[in-house]
Amino acid sequence: MVSYSPLTAELKAIIADGLSPDSSIVDRGNLVEYSSDASTLSYLPELVVLAGNTDDIKSLIELANRYNFPVTPRGGGSGLAGGCLPSRGGVVLSTMGLDRIERIDTGNFIMKVGAGVISLKVREAAEAAGLFYPPDPAGMDQSTIGGNGATDAGGHPA
Ligand SMILES: Cc1cc2nc3c(=O)[nH]c(=O)nc-3n(C[C@H](O)[C@H](O)[C@H](O)COP(=O)(O)OP(=O)(O)OC[C@H]3O[C@@H](n4cnc5c(N)ncnc54)[C@H](O)[C@@H]3O)c2cc1C
Repeated sequence: MVSYSPLTAELKAIIADGLSPDSSIVDRGNLVEYSSDASTLSYLPELVVLAGNTDDIKSLIELANRYNFPVTPRGGGSGLAGGCLPSRGGVVLSTMGLDRIERIDTGNFIMKVGAGVISLKVREAAEAAGLFYPPDPAGMDQSTIGGNGATDAGGHPA
């Protein structure tokens, strides 16, 4: 198993400096908010990055490769298997700030959205545009479209 060194104060500062004003970090105080999901598991992150754009995510991943620290994406935190928890330490990357529905192309049934859009909002936007969004996970009022994609959440089998 690959081992990682704890994030030093210097490395946390490098991570923070690499972010644009759209994004921010959570260090110490509110980390516990990001230490659990809908499972019974719990792992405290060393740092949380609240991403406000995808360029900042790219910068973070580049730093993670350079300095060898883990990054765990987190959407709505409604997962039942602890997937968004930093079991190996490092950074939790919250996508909840990527919450824009950018475009709906009704002719081609395409919606361009940020990874952090709550799935129910996707359904509502589709309905408002005269379309139907078929996936129906029961936690769609909490989960994000990115989390649904990552976990293949679609709803209960008929
Ligand atoms: C009341 C309730 C009902 C539920 N009903 C269903 C159901 O009907 N069907 C079903 O399948 N599941 C269901 N779930 C489980 C859960 O809602 C789904 O797994 C959902 O897809 C998780 O989305 P999330 O945004 O909360 O992801 P999180 O819990 O934050 O993360 C889940 C996983 O996805 C990864 N991830 C999240 N966002 C991204 C991203 N942008 N890019 C890459 N990886 C990402 C995380 O690292 C983690 O591994 C339910 C949960 C609850 C609490």
